[in-house]
Amino acid sequence: MADNMDLLIVGAGPAGLGAAISAQACGLDVAVADEYAAIGGQIFRNIHLPCIEHVLDKRTLEIGRTLVENFEKSGVRFHPNTTVWGMEGSEIFCKSLTEVKKISASKVLFATGGYERPVPFKGWTLPGVYTAGAAEMLFRSAGELPTRKSPVVLCGNGPLLMALAVHLIEHGVPISAWLDTGKFSSKLSALAYLGRIFHDMPYFKHGMRLALEILKANVPIITGVTNIEAHGGEFVEKVVFTKNGKTHELAASTLIRHEGVIPRIQIPDSLGMDLAWDTVQRYWYPKTDGFGRTSLNNVYITGDNSFVHGGEAAIWKGYVCGYAIAEDLGIVPDSEVKEKSQEYVRKMELLCRVREYLRHVFAPNPEIFNVSDDTIVCRCECVTAGEVRQAVKEGFTNPREVKIATRAGMGTCQGRSCGVALAEIIAQETGNKMEQVGILKNRQPFEPVFLADYCALHA
Ligand SMILES: Cc1cc2nc3c(=O)[nH]c(=O)nc-3n(C[C@H](O)[C@H](O)[C@H](O)COP(=O)(O)OP(=O)(O)OC[C@H]3O[C@@H](n4cnc5c(N)ncnc54)[C@H](O)[C@@H]3O)c2cc1C
Repeated sequence: MADNMDLLIVGAGPAGLGAAISAQACGLDVAVADEYAAIGGQIFRNIHLPCIEHVLDKRTLEIGRTLVENFEKSGVRFHPNTTVWGMEGSEIFCKSLTEVKKISASKVLFATGGYERPVPFKGWTLPGVYTAGAAEMLFRSAGELPTRKSPVVLCGNGPLLMALAVHLIEHGVPISAWLDTGKFSSKLSALAYLGRIFHDMPYFKHGMRLALEILKANVPIITGVTNIEAHGGEFVEKVVFTKNGKTHELAASTLIRHEGVIPRIQIPDSLGMDLAWDTVQRYWYPKTDGFGRTSLNNVYITGDNSFVHGGEAAIWKGYVCGYAIAEDLGIVPDSEVKEKSQEYVRKMELLCRVREYLRHVFAPNPEIFNVSDDTIVCRCECVTAGEVRQAVKEGFTNPREVKIATRAGMGTCQGRSCGVALAEIIAQETGNKMEQVGILKNRQPFEPVFLADYCALHA
């Protein structure tokens, strides 16, 4: 990788690729780094593989293929297998398969996406338990679906689960139940935004097709479910849950759970960026001006990393951010940038408005964090919900204090898996709002790095 450039984009998902194309078109010297070997991010990675045709609807597939082709034609340098793990001023630290390197860029854009909300529950470490994203990734990369033997139980709340259910149905995998953890009140309040869906008819039709396939397959949908647990010896054998105060059991060898997607705030937070709390989706996100500019000079955020709006919106958010960066660098006159970016701003705003319906209808139910005391919350340090609650009783009332008291969040994942649950459990125990509880503070390096590599770059 070159040592110096106008713009380094971290993340080659739809947002990073969109930003790279527009920034390059404005004449910027741009490079894109991604920890994966291929471009495309979570939705368009391996887009040339035939199995993707069963995963994405025709229109999304076309949009993705066009984006990938445009990026390849743009001539922007792509650095695969390159993880960015730190940043100080304009210096960025990264590691590839062959080297650790310090580079500098006038502007840095983090388009590092979102990840599935990690929700602990009893038995979530048992083989046979998947998140919907992991199950989809297995299908996309290996053409395999995660079923040792039927039946499969789906559980949670979010659009990804619908898409996965349809893939299972299409591949003849029986689903014994869909346990819906969403709140009825969220579905009601989402009605106020229902009309927005009709502004994107292809998206609406795609959603309807998924819903109809699930109904046609007679998948039993059980609503108002709480207290999910996976039980078994070496593998999942049954799923236990509560509905209307009664405990139920279902035989299952596979449990797939999904509770929505949240922005990856580890990097923005460890850089000291201003964050805000979304009361509907219950996640922290970096404050931006809508074009990717953040509270830090020269550091930009776009795509799902700034707020979760989905794959197509991420592309247009990326394009718009690429133009904003060109404008800030003064390489292209403001008036020209405005003219060039107009179309993308319109597309971005439309999709973000449409997404409001999904944001409300799939609002997570905080009850999902009301787990039994013996549930492991921090998988790295094996800290249970009971230990977290005990720490709160002893007077530790924010994630940082509970981390010090219990070691929860001190492991190699640096709180990525338990930070959210830790804060939610503290909020439940103290009765404080999540905004008051705060977050498990993130620190650099963003990703684990060998001490020798760290020292080599800081010598
Ligand atoms: C299984 C699955 C199916 C989906 N299906 C759909 C769908 O059908 N329709 C839809 O609209 N949306 C879908 N989504 C959501 C969609 O994937 C996201 O909205 C979209 O990918 C967001 O794009 P992005 O560019 O913001 O982030 P991402 O696509 O997540 O890309 C971020 C990139 O950053 C890289 N990265 C992260 N950290 C670092 C680092 N420190 N150093 C270097 N690289 C880093 C990652 O490797 C990744 O490639 C799906 C998501 C998943 C997980």
